[in-house]
Amino acid sequence: MTETASTILIRGAEVWSPAPRGRQDVLCGGGAILAVEAGLDAARPPGTRVIDGRGMKLLPGLVDGHVHIAGAGGEGGPATRTPEMTLSQMIAGGTTTVVGLLGADGVTRNLEGLLMKAKGLRAEGVSAWIWTGAYQLPPPTLTGGVARDLALVAEVIGVGEIAVADHRSSSPTVAELVKLAKEARLGGMLGGKCGLVHLHLGDAEGGFAMIRAAVEGSELGLAQFLPTHVNRTARVFAEALDYGREGPVDVTASAWPYFQEEEVKPSRAVRELLAAGVPPAHVTMSSDACGSLPDFDAAGRLRRLASGRPAALWDETAAAVGEGLDLERALALVTANPARRLRLPGKGAVAPGHDADLLLVDEDLRVRWVLARGAVMMEDGEIRRRGAFE
Ligand SMILES: [Zn+2]
Repeated sequence: MTETASTILIRGAEVWSPAPRGRQDVLCGGGAILAVEAGLDAARPPGTRVIDGRGMKLLPGLVDGHVHIAGAGGEGGPATRTPEMTLSQMIAGGTTTVVGLLGADGVTRNLEGLLMKAKGLRAEGVSAWIWTGAYQLPPPTLTGGVARDLALVAEVIGVGEIAVADHRSSSPTVAELVKLAKEARLGGMLGGKCGLVHLHLGDAEGGFAMIRAAVEGSELGLAQFLPTHVNRTARVFAEALDYGREGPVDVTASAWPYFQEEEVKPSRAVRELLAAGVPPAHVTMSSDACGSLPDFDAAGRLRRLASGRPAALWDETAAAVGEGLDLERALALVTANPARRLRLPGKGAVAPGHDADLLLVDEDLRVRWVLARGAVMMEDGEIRRRGAFE
């Protein structure tokens, strides 16, 4: 039930794209950003809705490359399968673009359901793509092959999350990984997609070594792979500080605060990666939201089962700023960087021709307004658009 996006002028906000652009007016129409410049207010077209952005920062909508939009989990039995992400959960955290994926359960959940969920989110007004495959090899696919999915299905951008160094993985060999990456690369070329292999790194040793071995034994580069959960333990993170100098690394936001003993806090992880000399363009953050987060007590008994929140992505970004990271570099991790790495057209910047996916945040970096493809999804802190069954 998408209303027709009207012409909207956001007046006088401080624009970050993610680089600072100063105080500007931003004109949106037809779902896109039409102009970003001072003084547009005086010449706005008749019937334009004006949003007063003075005193607020205007940012690109967040791009979350790893969300279990159709639910996930189930490793604790049938009662532990997590529900689907709702539109309002996504909007609450300022996320306007997601890339959905299956995860550990490529057995009872399928890509057809994931694809339909992505289509549903698009119909609700936000932007969604998916990764084909799941943890295991051979990966489930929609059309009989990874390259075919990438070439033929508009929503598919790559394959993942393929699990390595994890007791739930199918322990892929280096040769299997190379084969998969080449298939994803070819499909990506044919379909005009990023064609990446998105890798879930588990707690076990050897995740990064596996990628290095795949690259050494083939014509592929490290940029063909996007490993995630690099902050899941201190040991994995120590390796990421080194690996990140050469290849991309993705920090996971929503497991915090459930595993504080093992995990490196996401806001700290991104700051330390940048401080260690990892090129800023190599670093992205995603939520891993709507996966299952079992919380065990000291005796190993299940205390409660939580599901990661999409809003954790913005919470950890804002936390990194509160801890001293400058806003431009923090924002890039969740806007421009994932948009570029995942090759999502029209995303990750406040610039003419880009989609009108915009946030207004207050002085304390609280999300006050969300526009997705030109439609108001949150208005002065109130969610205005919900899914059909929420
Ligand atoms: Zn994972």
